[in-house]
Amino acid sequence: MGKLIFLLLAVFVIWAVVKNYYRQKNRDQAPRTPAPEDMVRCIHCGVHLPRSESHASGGNFFCSEDHLRLHR
Ligand SMILES: [Zn+2]
Repeated sequence: MGKLIFLLLAVFVIWAVVKNYYRQKNRDQAPRTPAPEDMVRCIHCGVHLPRSESHASGGNFFCSEDHLRLHR
């Protein structure tokens, strides 16, 4: 009887490890941020930055709201 419980426990542990492994693998396969991200250039000072961090206006990109304001 003790052997059966040990066997069930072993199966459970293996199942848990395998489940955890596949979950981690799937997480690695799905990137949180789509790479590589577009880089844009601030037309005021020329600094390069990711598009998601830039401020866009009229087809132009700016590194900060200050530079965006200067071109309005
Ligand atoms: Zn700038």
